[in-house]
Amino acid sequence: MTQKLILVLNCGSSSLKGAVLDNDNGDVLLTCLAEKLNLPDAFITFKANGEKHQADLSAEPNHTGAVKALLEEMKARGLDSKIGAIGHRVVSGGELYSDSILITDEVIAGIEKCIPLAPLHNPAHLLGIRAAQNIFKGLPNVAVFDTAFHQTMPEHAFTYAVPHELYEKYGLRRYGAHGTSYRFVADETARFLSKDKKDLRMVIAHLGNGASIAAVANGVCQDTSMGLTPLEGLVMGTRSGDVDPSIFSFLAENANMTISQITDMLNKKSGLLGVSGLSNDCRAIEEGAANGHKGAQLALEVFVYRLAKYIGSMTVAAGGIDALVFSGGIGENSELIRSKVLSYLGFMGIYEDHEANLAARFGNPGVITTADSRAKAVVIPTNEELMIAHDTARLSGL
Ligand code: ADP
Repeated sequence: MTQKLILVLNCGSSSLKGAVLDNDNGDVLLTCLAEKLNLPDAFITFKANGEKHQADLSAEPNHTGAVKALLEEMKARGLDSKIGAIGHRVVSGGELYSDSILITDEVIAGIEKCIPLAPLHNPAHLLGIRAAQNIFKGLPNVAVFDTAFHQTMPEHAFTYAVPHELYEKYGLRRYGAHGTSYRFVADETARFLSKDKKDLRMVIAHLGNGASIAAVANGVCQDTSMGLTPLEGLVMGTRSGDVDPSIFSFLAENANMTISQITDMLNKKSGLLGVSGLSNDCRAIEEGAANGHKGAQLALEVFVYRLAKYIGSMTVAAGGIDALVFSGGIGENSELIRSKVLSYLGFMGIYEDHEANLAARFGNPGVITTADSRAKAVVIPTNEELMIAHDTARLSGL
C-alpha cells in the first residue's frame, strides 16, 4: 500500500458518494453514501471490509455534515492521516476544461460558470468541494470532469444544425458525458489487447442506468452519443435517448403537457421503464421478457436496435472499427444484450463467440468474438473512481 491514499467524492444535490482508494493497486479501503441531504432524516452509510453501518446526520444534514462524518469514520480507521489528496467528480466543465485540474479559486469560478450546462450537478459539486477544502484543510483538491474527454470532438460532430448564434451566445452544442469512464476503458482496452491506444479504432459502449457510446480513434474521442445533456442518444433505464424534438409541441398540443412535464417524462419515465411499463432495471427487463412480458420484450428489442444502429454510426466516426467495447453494469454483465447486439453486426464481419460471451461476466474482461471476426468485441470493466484517483494523484504530485 502507498503512504498516500486518495479520497474520491461524487456529490449530488441530495447525496454524497465517497471512496478511499489506494491509487497504486486500486484497493478500496472505505466507501460511503450519504442520502437525503438537506432533509431532517439525512444519514450516511459506511462500508469497509464487507461490513456496513449507518450514522445519523440530523445534527448537520448537509454536504458539510456528511464530509465531517466521513472524516470521523476515517479517523476511527486510522485512514485520515494517510489521505494525500481529494478528487471530485464534476459533471460539466463545458468548453473550459479538456483535462482534470488542481482546484483553485479560478477553477471554482469556472465550475460556477458551467452551472447552466449542469444545473443540478455543478452546484452540488461546489458544495462538496467547499466542504472538503474546509474539513480536510491543506489537502490538494482536483476536479475531474465527465465532459473533458469529449473536448477533442471535431466541430462537425459537436455542432447541432440550428442557428449558429445559439452556440456562440449560449454554448448550445454537444458535450457528451461518461468521459472519465471512456478514458479508463480506452486505456484498459489497449492494455488488454496489447496495442497502442493510438493504433486502435474503438467504439465503446458505456451501458449503465445512463448509457452512451463513443468513438475513439488516434487515442482521442471523435464523437459520442450524449449531447447538450445526457438525454440524447441511446435508450437508457429511464431516459428516452433520441426522439423527434417535435415531441414537445405534439404533446403540448395533444396532451396538454408543459415543457417541464415533458422534460421530466423524457428523463425519468421513458427508456426501458417507459416502453416496458415494468422496470428501468435491465435484469428485471430480461427476466420479464423471458417470462413472456410483452412490454419487456419490446423494451429489450428497442434498446438493442438503437445500440446496434449507434455502433454503425460510431464506426463511421472512428473511421472504421478494430474493437467494440462493452462496459458499465449492462455491458459487463448482460450476455443477452451483447449477444443480441452482435447478431446485428454480421454484415460488418463481427461474429459472436457464444462460449466466450457467456464467460465474460462478474468483472472478467474478455474477447467475445470469433477468431475470424474482422474486429474484436471485448468486455472491459470500467472503474471511474480509480481514474479519478489516478488524475488526482498525478495533479497533486503524489
Ligand atoms: P449506474 O449508471 O447507476 O452506475 P451500473 O453501471 O451499475 O449503473 O448499471 C446498472 C444496470 O446494470 C442496471 O440496469 C442493471 O440491471 C444492469 N445489470 C447489472 N447486472 C446485470 C446482469 N447480470 N444482467 C443484466 N443486467 C445487469
